Amino acid sequence: MPADKSSITIKEVDQARNYQTIVMVGFVGSLFLLFFGVSAILRADYLIAGVLFVCAVIGLLSVILTRRTGNCAYGSNGISVAVAITFTYLIASGGVENTGPLWCYSFILIIMLLQGFRKGVFALFALLILTTVLMFYPDIPGVSAEYSLIFKSRFIASFAAFGIMASIYEYLRWKSQNDYIAISHELERASRTDALTGLANRRAIQASLEAEQSLFFRHGHPFSVIMMDLDLFKQINDRYGHSKGDELLILIARLLLREVRQQDLVSRWGGEEFLILLPQTNLKQSLVVAEKLRKAIAAIDLETIGINGSITASFGVECISTTRNLSDLITESDRKLYTAKRRGRNQVCCHVDDPCEV
Ligand code: GH3
Ligand code: MG
Ligand code: MG
Repeated sequence: MPADKSSITIKEVDQARNYQTIVMVGFVGSLFLLFFGVSAILRADYLIAGVLFVCAVIGLLSVILTRRTGNCAYGSNGISVAVAITFTYLIASGGVENTGPLWCYSFILIIMLLQGFRKGVFALFALLILTTVLMFYPDIPGVSAEYSLIFKSRFIASFAAFGIMASIYEYLRWKSQNDYIAISHELERASRTDALTGLANRRAIQASLEAEQSLFFRHGHPFSVIMMDLDLFKQINDRYGHSKGDELLILIARLLLREVRQQDLVSRWGGEEFLILLPQTNLKQSLVVAEKLRKAIAAIDLETIGINGSITASFGVECISTTRNLSDLITESDRKLYTAKRRGRNQVCCHVDDPCEV
């Protein structure tokens, strides 16, 4: 069966979200850094100003690169590097009067947004270790901040707690996003499937017909359609009831699927009418397929589903290279089908004027 190419994938949804996150977080974060960089210059605190400006430039460059190339890896990794540098500097130096660590909570959210659940948890764990090392070990006079033991232990504990909460939030968001996508795939599949027989419905085959038509115009590959209608089906319904008729339709659908090639698409066009798309098939080849289907249907043993007698079908066959237009293709196959009915049913018609020789 032709593949369904219209479904949205989890990767595409993630990609779109990443792009928006990078642009928004990158711009807003860089503006913050520039603002505090300017304020550090006004205080003549040139080291802080330098670090903040470098990180703002990394953030802005990452956004620009992502917008130019469409590659989110530049943005998420570039901004994460800027975050890691700012984080390290703020924890190590303490920032303005040891208020630097206060900013670090916002970095947890930025990392989670940019890196997603798995990489985000890993990055937060690395930042936690880095914080512990910076706060407890290096003691460079004039550079390392002096924090009280209570502040250090409380900061590490609250950073870990906030990180765990953010990870849970990101995990649940990621899981529900996947659930929504699974539901939307199921709805998409249902909207293209006939509920009774499980075959492609009219909407699905219409899309495949259009795809085949563009292939025909581009590469000249012909394709054919077989329009098939069960003969005197109303009598089965009248005699055995509607649900027996349904059972027969399911049986016919299974037979059609069994008899055609993998690349052919069998659809329920309506009621007891089926349309079969045969890619890369000319009129002569499709007549052979229709004749094979006609014989197979006439040979079905209806006793297995409790119906006496047999069922037959009539067929109209048409090829795109004869009509060159989808609506003419369908109209012509329909005309041939009704010619087959007029001529006595249980036959394949390929020409409305002359009898058909297969
Ligand atoms: P012909 O050979 O001229 O096609 O005769 P026919 O009886 O097959 O055609 P007609 O158009 O008179 O009747 C088609 C019947 O198909 C009538 C309708 O109730 C039945 N039908 C359509 N859809 C379904 C369905 O989903 N289930 C069942 N059981 N019957 C259906
Ligand atoms: Mg019929
Ligand atoms: Mg009909």
